[in-house]
Amino acid sequence: YRHFLDFATPPSAPNQKGICVNSPDNPPQVSIVVPLYNEIDNVVPLHRRLTTAMCGDQRSYEIVAVDDGSMDGTTQELLQLSKRDAALKLVLLRRNFGQTAAMFAGIQHARGKYIVTIDGDLQNEPDDIPVMLKKLDQGYDLVHGWRVHRQDGWLLRKLPSKIANWIIAKVTKFPVRDLGCTLKAFRCDIARELELYGEMHRFIPILAHWRGARCLEIPTRHHPRRFGQTKYGIDRTVRVVLDLITVKYMLKYFASPMKLFGGLGMICGLMSLIAFAVTGGMKWFGSVDMTGNPLLLLACVTAVASLQFFSLGLLGEVNARIYYANQDKKSYAVRELVNFQPANGEDGISRRAA
Ligand code: UDP
Ligand code: MG
Repeated sequence: YRHFLDFATPPSAPNQKGICVNSPDNPPQVSIVVPLYNEIDNVVPLHRRLTTAMCGDQRSYEIVAVDDGSMDGTTQELLQLSKRDAALKLVLLRRNFGQTAAMFAGIQHARGKYIVTIDGDLQNEPDDIPVMLKKLDQGYDLVHGWRVHRQDGWLLRKLPSKIANWIIAKVTKFPVRDLGCTLKAFRCDIARELELYGEMHRFIPILAHWRGARCLEIPTRHHPRRFGQTKYGIDRTVRVVLDLITVKYMLKYFASPMKLFGGLGMICGLMSLIAFAVTGGMKWFGSVDMTGNPLLLLACVTAVASLQFFSLGLLGEVNARIYYANQDKKSYAVRELVNFQPANGEDGISRRAA
């Protein structure tokens, strides 16, 4: 496959030449989801490297490239390539929706049994993909990369990321070293359950683990960016920390918000009662004027806060029920079904006879 590695020659269509065993019409075994935003110079080398890596792996595959509203001709470049390679599927978004949304769109359109996500700038190593797929074969549900030697700026990228990863690991109690690595491989049933908003794509391993996925973090290679520019700066760390609060809430209280808000309501209610009792006691026994006593204010404020918290909890409970009932979401996740009739396979759950 040496000539595929040569970036200078135009891409040929390896699948049509019979070098790759690939039948893009049937559901492929592997879907590679790549978000691309203004990556014009990376498109051709990326396609070539991915094709080479997957040809070596001998599995049927598709590349789902999501163009996230690029303005620099990435779209045209992708369209050109897709004419020559039927395994290259394109999802063209109307405008720039952000990396997470782009990945989500790609995952929704992917049909493979295994789904791999990778950056479109070749900072991840396509040759790491087969290693991850082997781990999935061994029974893991999700394999995520750890950029051991990350090739980004230290002060603005690596240090904030290290701190963020440390905080996330502490808060979610999920032992993780590098959540920011886009190179991940997971089974399609795990992918189907993911709901990705904001900067949420980096929490995929945690969300999947919460749904019972067997996760594995493996060291992966990382390269400096050769073409184009990074789309992010230090401000992303702030957004990630805000998303962390959402994730923490989801992990712990999503299905029963009353446990959080009811608890807070009870604490406030108790404080209110105590403050009222003390104000009354001070009036009767110490003849301290009630209206001039700041404790009365505390009693009133905590009483109102308590009511607010309880109502929030009730609203949350109603919301959770609407979420699960209306959207056909399940509060459980099935790993495998035994002795059930084989279904159309739409749900991605594996079935077998005992
Ligand atoms: N990306 C995207 N939409 C965006 C920003 C980024 O699809 O709004 C893609 C980008 O093209 C690249 C990947 O997400 O393929 C990672 O982005 P980048 O390299 O800028 O992030 P970094 O590696 O610096 O964290
Ligand atoms: Mg990058």
